[in-house]
Amino acid sequence: MSTFLFDSIIFGPVVSRRLGNSLGINLLPVNKKICNFNCIYCECGLTGNNQTHSKLPGRFEVKEALEKWLQKNQSIRYPVDSITFAGNGEPTLHPEFDRIIDDTVALRNQYYPRIKIAVLSNATTTGQKKIFNALLKTDLNILKLDSGFEETIKAINCPLIKFDLNAIIKSLKAFNGKLIIQTLFFKGKINNKIYDNTTHEEIEQWLDTIDIIKPESIMIYTIARDTPFKGLKKADYRVLKSIAGEAEKRGHKVQISA
Ligand code: SF4
Repeated sequence: MSTFLFDSIIFGPVVSRRLGNSLGINLLPVNKKICNFNCIYCECGLTGNNQTHSKLPGRFEVKEALEKWLQKNQSIRYPVDSITFAGNGEPTLHPEFDRIIDDTVALRNQYYPRIKIAVLSNATTTGQKKIFNALLKTDLNILKLDSGFEETIKAINCPLIKFDLNAIIKSLKAFNGKLIIQTLFFKGKINNKIYDNTTHEEIEQWLDTIDIIKPESIMIYTIARDTPFKGLKKADYRVLKSIAGEAEKRGHKVQISA
């Protein structure tokens, strides 16, 4: 199926289901996805074998591109709602991620102090102090947790690194509520293997894990674009609504994007 890659450092603005009118920043190469996950639903396609030797944009290149965009749009009162680090893979894998966040915060404060800075991350690097501290400087620290079972995460997100769910939960808890959990619910079948993170057992375990992490809110959503495999299905809106209801009963704030 036809997945896609962003072809520039700055992209959009795009109308995001979750972030409003959002200016994207892609810290990964423009012709290749770089990620330490290989999610079966990834809209950028499957993660390739060769993850090294790719040219990433430098810190000053990113700063210059963002400042140019902000200057060009200065006549507009508020051109976007958010500046969002997303793009062709996992943004926190950029070696200068922390300094790029500092630059972005400074530019945002200079040009449009009310615009929010968002990061969409798979949470695997939150155990690294400099990434953790950089994420704390953002307004919307949005971190992925697709299941409360390590086995399910390994099946859905296919980590390409050593993955320890308990260690991730510990890092997420350390944010003391300054994080948003994002979870993509779906079901499907690939090569006769069933995938479904919407079962009763899955939802109970996911909710128990959310209770431990105590995020400021949860974003739940489903597949919106083409995926690398056929056979994956969006979760029904009714299912998302029911999951949101269960989370709300436990006192969590939930946003659904269907
Ligand atoms: S973490 Fe994000 S970029 Fe990486 S494989 Fe999963 S969906 Fe794609």
